[in-house]
Amino acid sequence: MSNNNGNTGGELVIISGPSGSGKTTICKELAKDPRVKISVSVTTRAPRDREVDGRDYHFVSEPEFEEKIREGCFVEHARYSGTLYGTPRQPLEKALEEGLTYLLEIDVQGALQVMEKYPNAVSIFILPPDEDVLKKRLIGRNTDKDRDIAERLNLAKEELRFSSHYRYQVVNDRLEVALEEVYKILELKR
Ligand code: ADP
Ligand code: 5GP
Repeated sequence: MSNNNGNTGGELVIISGPSGSGKTTICKELAKDPRVKISVSVTTRAPRDREVDGRDYHFVSEPEFEEKIREGCFVEHARYSGTLYGTPRQPLEKALEEGLTYLLEIDVQGALQVMEKYPNAVSIFILPPDEDVLKKRLIGRNTDKDRDIAERLNLAKEELRFSSHYRYQVVNDRLEVALEEVYKILELKR
């Protein structure tokens, strides 16, 4: 794999897409490869049923999050659907020094910030096949209240308008096909 981060040996990869498009599913699959690591974000959102603190997110209060902003702990941060999310700087820098492929599963606002700071980062936008499928997947995931799903579907329309800012667009219709495409982009052999 080519080094696309200037002085570091690793590869920084931004993965975005509307909620329910399949980002987490794809990232978890990629992270089965020992050369790949997923960034664990900090958030002020409440944990979902099966989420574990420190594994899926670092769950903090708003004042704690704001303190971290002041301390310069984040590479980027953004508010999404009323909740704060941020990418911790230190583990990112360490992973790139170690030559790993480091995945940031972040929203469009955060992605634009990272693209500016790391212009050689590989950016991938995951698209649902269509709006109906997205809605079905969000309902099927069974993790969000109806009101949150409605808000996420509204945000999806906004987010889709930014897909062209990403270097690659991948439609997640059949998971295996989408994964194959991402493996090819990242030049990871299965
Ligand atoms: P995101 O991280 O983008 O919000 P998830 O990875 O949580 O999305 O996926 C949303 C739901 O859709 C999950 O229940 C997941 O199992 C399911 N899903 C993901 N990809 C596919 C696919 N290609 N076909 C069918 N269901 C999928
Ligand atoms: P969820 O609440 O469904 O886990 O995530 C909601 C949105 O926040 C998704 O689009 C997800 O990619 C994004 N997100 C998760 N972590 C971060 C982060 O560290 N920074 C930014 N900007 N967005 C994030």
